[in-house]
Amino acid sequence: MAYKISDECIACGACAEGCPVGAISEADGKYVIDADACIDCGACAGACPVGAPQAE
Ligand code: SF4
Ligand code: SF4
Repeated sequence: MAYKISDECIACGACAEGCPVGAISEADGKYVIDADACIDCGACAGACPVGAPQAE
């Protein structure tokens, strides 16, 4: 299980700042979650203004 960022992402960066394990990074103007690093804490979903990170 891991969170995944949907196409709703507006690349604000809030989720990356709040991720406790640094699993979120920017790539080509969008933010992506490293599924192998994600510990499924849900902090990114709480920080996102558009609800883009969702549990798979
Ligand atoms: Fe990081 Fe937690 Fe979001 Fe996974 S669920 S990407 S560990 S903030
Ligand atoms: Fe994208 Fe939401 Fe992360 Fe902002 S907080 S970069 S909109 S996923």
